[in-house]
Amino acid sequence: MAKPLPVVRTVPALRRAVEPYSAAGQRLALVPTMGALHRGHLALVAQAKRRARRVAVSIFVNPTQFAPNEDFSSYPRDFRSDLRILADAKVDLVWAPSAAVMYPEGFATHIEPAGAAKAELEDKFRPHFFGGVATVVTKLLMQVAPDFALFGQKDYQQLRMVTQLAKDLDLPVTIVGVPTVREKDGLALSSRNAYLTAAERAVAPLLYRVLKSSAKRIRQGEPIAAVLDVARVEIDVSGFTLDYLEARHALTLAPVAARKEGPIRLLAAAKLGRTRLIDNVAV
Ligand code: AMP
Repeated sequence: MAKPLPVVRTVPALRRAVEPYSAAGQRLALVPTMGALHRGHLALVAQAKRRARRVAVSIFVNPTQFAPNEDFSSYPRDFRSDLRILADAKVDLVWAPSAAVMYPEGFATHIEPAGAAKAELEDKFRPHFFGGVATVVTKLLMQVAPDFALFGQKDYQQLRMVTQLAKDLDLPVTIVGVPTVREKDGLALSSRNAYLTAAERAVAPLLYRVLKSSAKRIRQGEPIAAVLDVARVEIDVSGFTLDYLEARHALTLAPVAARKEGPIRLLAAAKLGRTRLIDNVAV
């Protein structure tokens, strides 16, 4: 019979679980998630396995990255299904702390990232978000002490922020970005896609189509501002409420006006009914 998948819920139990890996000289990769796992998360696990002999997946819906008006309480959770998926994926360890373990009474330290985290993209619409993510990711990296940590390009600004954070704090970990996994029609996989009605689900792939066609037009030499103006209207008239669609430097996320200003990433966020979708593409 296959060995049961170890699920640890306290920091001492976690330390006991990972200690034998380093003692045996085995590298460890961490995939941080909020659960409700899908093929996007599994792509991170697959990449983790390519880098390290041991793979840990954390499941923690982090309350501090949600604003009071956001979907913390309704965020999709299915721990039993997640465990089945991770057992099938043959990961070595699940780190599933409670909020009380992560933020015990008296917890008082908060990491406030700048740089890419203040690019006026997600941070403009979710001002709580990156402070909460930076604090929890720092804790996860200190707790698990992995050699590698994998993050999706789907959350591109987050990936840039975490890369900077690991560098700035000299964390002994290599941050690895993994390309976005999509449905056949282009929609980026997301736990929040479960919120979409059938009618919204039919419209949702338009966001990626517009990003892709805009990237192509910019590559072909059309002026960025003109391309984005048309794209914003297209997204708006299709029933989305656009939060932003921007062209940014792919590493710093600083605004760019012309193609020659560097590798460019197009990033967008838009609401479809009660669901907020984000996506991005390289130019
Ligand atoms: P989440 O559980 O949504 O917080 O996501 C956990 C990790 O999975 C993050 O690093 C995400 O960027 C990544 N991720 C989520 N969706 C996808 C996707 N469709 N493709 C690749 N990575 C993803």
